[in-house]
Amino acid sequence: MMSYQVTWAAAKLNKNEQSKLIEDGLDVFRDLPELVKRPFAEVDKSYYMYFKFAGLTVQKPQEQGNFMMRVKIPGGIINIKQARHLAAIASEYGHDQIDLTTRQAVQYHWIPFAKLPEIFAGINAVGLTTQGAEGDITRNVIDNPLAGIDPNELFDTRPTVRRVHRLFQGNRDYSNLPRKFKISINSNIYNAGNAEINDLAFVPATKKINGRTVKGFNVKVGGGLGMRPYLGLGLDIFVTRSQVPAVAEAVVQLYRDNGYRRSRSKARLKFLIQDWGVAEFETKLREKVPSLATAGASAVIGWSNGTALGIHEQRQAGYYYVGVSIPAGRLQAADFSAFVDLAEKYGRDEIRFDHSQNLLIPYIAAADLPAVKAAPIFKKFSYKPHNLVDFGTTCTGAEYCNLAYTHTKEIFTPLLKRLDTQFSFDQPVHITLTGCGNGCAHRSVADIGIEGLTAKTKDGQRAEAFKIAVGGSLLAGGHFNEVLKGKLFANQLYGALAALLADYQTQRLANETYYAYFQRLGIDHLQTILDQYLAQAA
Ligand code: SF4
Repeated sequence: MMSYQVTWAAAKLNKNEQSKLIEDGLDVFRDLPELVKRPFAEVDKSYYMYFKFAGLTVQKPQEQGNFMMRVKIPGGIINIKQARHLAAIASEYGHDQIDLTTRQAVQYHWIPFAKLPEIFAGINAVGLTTQGAEGDITRNVIDNPLAGIDPNELFDTRPTVRRVHRLFQGNRDYSNLPRKFKISINSNIYNAGNAEINDLAFVPATKKINGRTVKGFNVKVGGGLGMRPYLGLGLDIFVTRSQVPAVAEAVVQLYRDNGYRRSRSKARLKFLIQDWGVAEFETKLREKVPSLATAGASAVIGWSNGTALGIHEQRQAGYYYVGVSIPAGRLQAADFSAFVDLAEKYGRDEIRFDHSQNLLIPYIAAADLPAVKAAPIFKKFSYKPHNLVDFGTTCTGAEYCNLAYTHTKEIFTPLLKRLDTQFSFDQPVHITLTGCGNGCAHRSVADIGIEGLTAKTKDGQRAEAFKIAVGGSLLAGGHFNEVLKGKLFANQLYGALAALLADYQTQRLANETYYAYFQRLGIDHLQTILDQYLAQAA
C-alpha cells in the first residue's frame, strides 16, 4: 500500500489521472489472470493505459490482441540464464525478433494476450521483470554500459544502480507519477549515461570534503526528448554514493506531488523545472535531504553517446569486452543465442546492452580473442565500428507503433549500408531515424536526425516523408539538432544524406567530428547543401 497522501485529487485532471485515482497502475498484475480468461475484444479501450505499467503496449491492429512487451534490464546487464530465456521468448512468442532499445532494455512484438501470465511467470523466474518498463512510473534505470569494467569510470556504479532499481520497483509510493520518469546513473567521464536527456541524472564529480577528495556525483534534472525536448539542468549539489537513493527518492516525491496532471503533454518533470527554475527545485530538494554539499568538480570531459563498440581492454588487465554492432537494434533469436554461446564459453556469465541498440560480451581473456573473432556470427555482425550503420539508431516505426507516420527499421539499415559503401569517416557519425516527432531513438541529439511525417505528393496523395535536423550532441551540456527546411520523400533520403555527408567529407578538418563541423560552418551552410539537392531532384 502507499504511505503518502494524494494531494492532487481535487485538481482538474486528465482522464488517465482520474483512472489512476481509482485503480493503481500496478493493479494490472492483479487483474491479468482474470482478464485473459475472456477474449481480448472484451477488454475496454480505457483499460489499455494499465497494460503500460506491465511493460505492454497494444500492438496495431489493436483488435488482434497482440502486444509490444518491454523487459526492464537495470544497467543493461543480464546473465546467461536470463539471456537464454530472452531468446526463448522471441522464438516461442515474438516471431523470432528481439529489439534492443536505447535504454539498455529489450522489447518484443506479437506477444499474445492469452499467454501473458505464463510469459510474466517465466520472466520473473529468471529474475527479470516488465513491471514499470512503460507507464507513469520510474522506468529502467540506466548506467554506463561498461560499469565495473571501464578504464574511464570514476568508480563502479552497478551497486548504486541496483539499489535505486530496488527502491522504486513495485513501490506503490511511486507508481502513480504524472508521466514516465527516467533515471541515469553513470561515472564514465565521457557521459556514457546520456545525462542531459533524463529526468534525473547522476553525473561523475569529485568534491573535497573534510580535506579528502570524495568521488561521487553532481546532479542534473529536467531533461527529456519528445515533441518539446529540454536538456537537463545542473543543481548545485554533490551526492555521495550512499546518498543517491535518498536524493532519487526526494526528486521523485517532488515530481509526484507537484508535477502537472492536467495535460499529459505538459506532465514530464521538465515542464515543472522550467516553471520553477532549478534554484527553487533545489531549495525544495534540500528541505527533504538537508545534508547535501554544493556541487563538486565535474569529471565529464566528452560524450560517447553511451556506445561501446569494438574490442577494447577492460579495467581488468588482460580482459577485453567485445562491443557488437546490431543494425537497427534488431536481432533474430538464433543470432542472439550465438552471442550468448560465445559469452558462456569465453566470457563470465554476462551479456550487456548499450544506449545505441548494440550488445557487449565482457570478460574475454586475451588468449581467447582469436577464437571469439573467428566465430561464424561475426560474418553477419561487426565488432569493427567504422560504419554509419554501426552508430545509427532507429525506433519501432509504422511496422508496429500506433503513433508512427513512417516505417523506420525496414528502410534504415539498407539506407545506411548504402551510404557506407560511399563514405568512410574516422569519427562516428550518429544518424537517427524516428517514425514521428517523439524521441524514442534520441533523434534530437543525433548528428543527423531524421523525423518521419507525411506530405502530399504531386498528385495530391499523402505519402511517407521526412525532415532532417543536423548538429545534435550531448557534448558540454548538450545541443539539440536544428531542423533544415524542406520535406523529403523516401526515395530522396539517400540523395539528401549523400549530399550532406559529401560536404562533411570534403570540408572537414583533420579528425573533425560532425558536431564540430556543424558548429564551424553553421546551419545556413547545411541548408544550402540540402536546397541544392532538392533543386536538382525536383
Ligand atoms: S518515435 Fe514515434 S514512431 Fe518511433 S517508436 Fe516512438 S512514438 Fe513510435
